[in-house]
Parts: sequence; C-alpha cells; structure tokens
Amino acid sequence: MSKGMAKRKIIAGLIAGIVSIALLLGMEAIERKAPVPVSEEPAAQSGEEAAPAPAPAEPASASVSADTAGEFQAGTYTGTANGFGGPVDVTLTVGDAGGITNVEIKGDGETPDVGGAAIPTLAGRILEAQSAEVDGVSGATFTSQAVLDAAAQAVAQASGQEVMAAPKAEGDNLFIPGTYSGTSKGFGGDVDVTVTVSEKSIDDIKIDGSHETENIGSFAVDMLDDRILEAQTPNVDALTGATVTSNAVFRALNDALVLAGADLSKFPTVTKEAGGEKTYEELETDIVIIGAGGAGMTAAINATQAGKKVILLEKMPYAGGNTTKATGGMNAAETHYQAEQGIEDSVEQFVEDTMKGGHDINDRDLVTVMAANSAKGIDWLDSIGAPLPKVSFSGGATNKRIHSPEDGSGVGAYLVTSFLRTMDELGIQVMYDTRATSLMTLDGTVVGVQASSDSANYTIRAKAVILATGGFGNNEDMVVHYKPDLKGTVTTSAPGVTGDGILMAEAVGADLVDIDQIQLHPTVEQSTSMLITEGVRGDGAILVNQEGKRFINELLTRDVVSAGELAQPGSYAYIIFDQHLRDGLKAIEKYVSTGITVQGDTIEALAEQLDIDPATLADTLKTWNQYVADGKDPDFDRTTGMDADLSQPPYYAIKIAPGIHHTMGGVKIDTSARVIDVNGKPIPGLFAAGEVTGGVHGGNRIGGNAVADIVVFGNVASQSAVAWCDENG
Ligand code: ADP
Repeated sequence: MSKGMAKRKIIAGLIAGIVSIALLLGMEAIERKAPVPVSEEPAAQSGEEAAPAPAPAEPASASVSADTAGEFQAGTYTGTANGFGGPVDVTLTVGDAGGITNVEIKGDGETPDVGGAAIPTLAGRILEAQSAEVDGVSGATFTSQAVLDAAAQAVAQASGQEVMAAPKAEGDNLFIPGTYSGTSKGFGGDVDVTVTVSEKSIDDIKIDGSHETENIGSFAVDMLDDRILEAQTPNVDALTGATVTSNAVFRALNDALVLAGADLSKFPTVTKEAGGEKTYEELETDIVIIGAGGAGMTAAINATQAGKKVILLEKMPYAGGNTTKATGGMNAAETHYQAEQGIEDSVEQFVEDTMKGGHDINDRDLVTVMAANSAKGIDWLDSIGAPLPKVSFSGGATNKRIHSPEDGSGVGAYLVTSFLRTMDELGIQVMYDTRATSLMTLDGTVVGVQASSDSANYTIRAKAVILATGGFGNNEDMVVHYKPDLKGTVTTSAPGVTGDGILMAEAVGADLVDIDQIQLHPTVEQSTSMLITEGVRGDGAILVNQEGKRFINELLTRDVVSAGELAQPGSYAYIIFDQHLRDGLKAIEKYVSTGITVQGDTIEALAEQLDIDPATLADTLKTWNQYVADGKDPDFDRTTGMDADLSQPPYYAIKIAPGIHHTMGGVKIDTSARVIDVNGKPIPGLFAAGEVTGGVHGGNRIGGNAVADIVVFGNVASQSAVAWCDENG
C-alpha cells in the first residue's frame, strides 16, 4: 500500500465524528499485515433486502490485570472506522505499567451473527497481542477491517505518535476545491471513488466498481453517483440488494471527502421516506408483465414486437433477478450451432434427459414444448444480437447441448444486458422499484394488477397479465414451510426472488405443482453465497473431499452431487482446476478477484494450503489425468468434461458446499403458459413463465434448462397473452 493510500485509510477511519479529527504520522508502522479473508458479509449482496439488523446491546470488551507491562502511555484512547453497517469504535485502556489492559469495541451497526459475533474475538486478539496487528476474523471482513483500522489509530495515539490536523475547509465552506479519491473493498475487489468538489458543492463523482457483480453491483455504481449528487450528501440510502457495493462506495467517498477538508458530521442524511403520503395513479395497457427477469423481459420484447402495449413491473431498482446469476448457458437441441460443430443431438434426447434429471415427475408436455422450441429460442437470441455459439457438456445432458456466450462470460448477465438493450431500442420502459401486490379479477377473469412504489399506489388495468416473478429461493419462510430441513441453508437466489407471484396466483385460485421441490446447487462458496458455475466441472474440474479424494462423478445431476458432498466429512468439498481451465472460462476471474480461490504453484503446495495430505491430492490428480488420457473413469464412470486434464500450474481450489438454487415447483401452467386453477381450468387473462411456474423441471432442474425455460416460455406466454388480447380486445 502506498503511503498516500495508507493516509487516506486512516483519515477515513476518523469520520464518525466521535474522536476529534486527527491525522496520524508514521502510517506504515500501524498498517495491518495480515490479509483478511473474504467475508461472509458479501452474502448480503445476493441475499439481503432487509434493513440492517438490530444493534447488540453492549459493547464487547476484553481485559487483563492492570499491571500488564508494555510500552504505551497510560490512558484511554479511541479510534473509529467504518464497518459493515456504520462506525466501529475501539477504545484501548493502557495501565500504569504501559500494557493494554482493556479493549472495548462498539459496533452497533454490525450484523449480529457475523461482524457482531467477530467483535469479542477481535477484542481478545488485540489484547493478547498487545497490538492492532492481528488477524481478522474469517467471514467478517468488513467488521474486522474496521476494528483493526480503529485499533491501529488508538494504538498509535497510545504510542504517543505525533498528530497533525486533518485538512479543513475554511470558514463556512464545505470543501477545499479540488479532485480527491478514495478506495474501499467491495463485493469483488476494490471500488474507487473520485470526487470533484468546489467550496460548497459536490460537482462530480466517478465510481469505478468494475469488479462488482455485473448488473447488481454495477447498477449500484451507476445509480449511487446520481443519488449522491442530487442529495449533495454522502449519507444516502444504499441500493437495495447491493448493500456491499453501496457501502464500499460510501466508505471510499467519505475517505475522499475527508481529504477534501469536509466535516462529515455536517452532512444531512437523505433517505427515502417510509410511510409518507403516496399518490394514486390509474394506468391502462394491453399486457402487464410482473418481474423484469429473463422470462419477463423475453415476454415484454416479444409482446411489443407483436404490437402490444406493455407495462413491465420490477420491484427491485434493477432488472435481472435470478437470471443475472445464471452462469452456465442455455440448453437447446438441434440448433444451427450444434450442426456447425458436428454435434449430434435431438429434441427427443433433450426431453428424455430433462425427464430423467427431474426424476420423471416433470410435466412431459411442458418439457416437450421447451425442447422443441429451444433451437428457435437460440435463433431468436441471434436475432436480438445475443448469440450463444459456444456449445459444451453440462450435468445430466447426454450430448453437448449447453449454449453459452463466445467469450466465456456468464450467460445470465450477458442476456440481461442484451434484453435491456433490446427493450431500450423498442422503447419498453420498466417501472422499477414498483412491486405488484395483487391481481385484480372481474368475474374470474384477471383484468389487471395492483402495484405499489415508495411514492405511489397504482391500479393498472390490462387485458392480460403475465407472471414472471421468479421462484421463492430468497424467502426463507416459504422455503422452510415447504421443506423444513433446509432451514439455515445459504441461497444463491436474488433478493427479489421471494415467491410473490406464487402467492398472488394462489389468491386467485391457481393450482401449484411440485412446490416442495427445491434444488440445492452443489458448488456454492458458502461465505459469499457465490455460485461456482457448472461450467468449471464441465470444462474438466474435479471435486475432492478433505482427504484429497474424489468421491463422485462430478457431472451427475445437482441433487446427486449435492447429496454426495453432504455425505463427506464436514459436508463440504473442494473444486480443483488448473490454469488451462481458468484461461478458458471467464467466470473464474470473478472468483479469483473475490478472493475465494486458493492457489498453489504445485498440487502439493495447493494441498498444504487446504490442509489436505499433499501426497494424496497429488495422487488423485495423477490418477485423474490418466483417466482423462484414457477417456475412461473406472472409479466413478464420469464420461463428460474430460477433454482436458489438470496439469498446467498454478492449481486452484474453491471450498464449496450445497446452497438453495432453484425452486422447481410453482404455479401450474399448460403448454400455452396459461395459469391453471385448482379445478384444472385456465384462469382467463393470466399467464406465467419462468421460475414462478412448476412442472418443467420436475424434481431436479438440469443446468442450462432455466435459461431454456425463460426464453421458450417467456415467448409462449407472450404469444398466448397477445392472442388473448386480440380475442378479447
Ligand atoms: P425468471 O428466471 O423466471 O425470469 P428471475 O428471478 O430472473 O425469474 O426474475 C424475476 C424478477 O421478478 C426479479 O427481478 C424480481 O425482483 C421480480 N419480482 C418478484 N416479485 C415481484 C413483484 N411482486 N413485483 C415486481 N417484480 C417482482
């Protein structure tokens, strides 16, 4: 770290206004050495919609006898830094013998189960080491960093280090005019903020968050600068669902503003007013589509192209839902890409693989619609400039069938970006931050939607409604209601994926199918809820347990591989790959920049870091590479994802375990995507597509079928809704 950066870090730590602003000299001396592991807290990015958790009642402290010897000056010293949810104060008491006798840490805004739980540990470590140079607590990066930064300030004061005044704006000016920058850790790496200020205003903000999750963190980056510029204060609301990125922006901005001479305590807090007066608006359209994920956007584009007026509601401030998170690709059979690459496949085989993967409880008619229209779906994606030309194997597929972007990027973010661009071209507006709350019916026919935003309540009359609200993987109550043994399991689902559409449909009499069928994905990094794409195994990675041994055919279906992992010691595994594989799969760069990969120049070096017996892991890799050379896996009968061995250093591992990934069950639909009621009759005017529906995936969804589902059924639902409008118009 450069001296300048260290300086900014320290200044940033002083922002809470509790200690007088003082800038410490000799920063390198108090810089923390130990890198802090990537935390559990970024899970908030994918899993958190709610406000910060309640504050712990009392500060945590650790103390020893008053005569501990040391080199500090007797007294009490406090440092402050920004944690996960607000300021964290560390107060050190130094006894007459010069040793630290008490460490008190206060961090009311920290998540109780994560950062809050780490605080007593950190207090103990600082006390024991008599220093701020201690390791952070794994899984609580942000809190640890704040505690150690704050402790470093207090230690420096206790060491009698000279202090100098921080820059201060003159008179009633807010800033010293100029351009300043700050840096803080976000979800996937550093977030840099550069701010230009004049004496009394913030004139420009540039946020570089290029490592943040595409279409989630990047929305935060895009939206926060406007929010801050408009409010002229750094104290604005975090972007819902992107708390980690938002907090990184705020920390970096505060850092820069302090350098600009600002007194941060002078800035007002501007938050959205909860419960204020709302306006009431009545709108009218042909088709209301609820949910701007993959299914909703596909439906919106198709319906608009068919000449219908569409209103697309999205309760989050950004589009994409779970679709953004799809990393693998889209299954499709008999496509022109397969033909061009000499891959033999058939719609029938696609149907059979999907039925088999779904334990034969899928609705075969729906599966057939998906498979038979999948190649057309690929053509349609070509037509909107979103080609998926790369074809490879994925778990549960007999043939190479999963289609993904040429450059190896994650299919979901790629498609969401393409859909948004196409909608822009077609002039389709998304009503963001607007949640559909209920379906309106007249004599049993769905005739519109009630919706609500922070500022307005809406009645939207429409000839047809398409539900595309996604599943319920991020509604723990609903998950536990249908599958109690999943209590406490991490989820990969987006924050908006909370089952609203299922509840709304049920309220108008819809039938539900397979609602207790909830899929675990076998490769989820637990501290971040980050899903490690199946493509990693598809391209040749293996799974090993803590003993360094393979235990399963890694490309069996997700439920089987998940069960295999749960049966291992500790119920986790490591996914192992090499540099060659990393070079071919762009998604891996994200894992590396997030800090969840462990790397070794040799297999043995990797094993040592994982606490695995090096000889065993080396032997596992040697055996596996021989199997790849022979094209045969006598241990577990793996037959796919064996195009390349794992022999090019460096070697990588990610510790993974199962996480809730997809809710297969949902609203019952027929092959025209009409929603079916509990008496087996279509509910007039109501259509549904995507994860909100049940039946397509049965008891287990095969990787690549979610995207096939949204593209095909998004289109089917749109066609049916368009036809319904024409017949009833
Ligand atoms: P699919 O894969 O089926 O398209 P996604 O999870 O990608 O599903 O998208 C579903 C979208 O629906 C998400 O963006 C989610 O925020 C949105 N959504 C869920 N419930 C509502 C609601 N009540 N009103 C508006 N949007 C909703």
